[in-house]
Amino acid sequence: MKFTDDDAEVPEPVRRKHALAETREVLRKASETYRPWSCPSTAECCQLTKTGRPPWLWPSEWAVLLERLKRDARPLPPLRADGGCPFLDVSGLRCTVYEDRPFGCRTFFCHRVSGPSTQPTFATNDLLHQLEGANVEWQEEAQPKPLPEWHAAALGASRG
Ligand code: SF4
Repeated sequence: MKFTDDDAEVPEPVRRKHALAETREVLRKASETYRPWSCPSTAECCQLTKTGRPPWLWPSEWAVLLERLKRDARPLPPLRADGGCPFLDVSGLRCTVYEDRPFGCRTFFCHRVSGPSTQPTFATNDLLHQLEGANVEWQEEAQPKPLPEWHAAALGASRG
């Protein structure tokens, strides 16, 4: 579904709901697209301070993570002392929001990847375009931000 100028009065909750539904669909397609590739799941790529390559999330991706926490009745996880993603489990080896992880966590390539030699660049760009579209239809000024920035802002807000 695409909103048009005639839909300018579509209530924000409806826009949000649509953006999240579209985001979940994009995330599903991303996993499908990247199915031929795999890695040993060492979670090295989740050590965000060490890699210096955090995933960048659109607002709807962050909202999907928050909804996951809400469904699980879990609070926002604190910062990790090792600089790893706060969504890692205590061992630092497992993502606790794996099914709802952001786009960048599904499409990350490192030296440990195995699979076809050619990456699905065109399909990835199409999906990113779809993700951007879903977000700007929800919030005109929407921009992606690194996961640690979303997390820091949410932590700050939760402390008042
Ligand atoms: S959301 Fe999950 S997969 Fe992505 S960086 Fe964090 S722990 Fe790793």
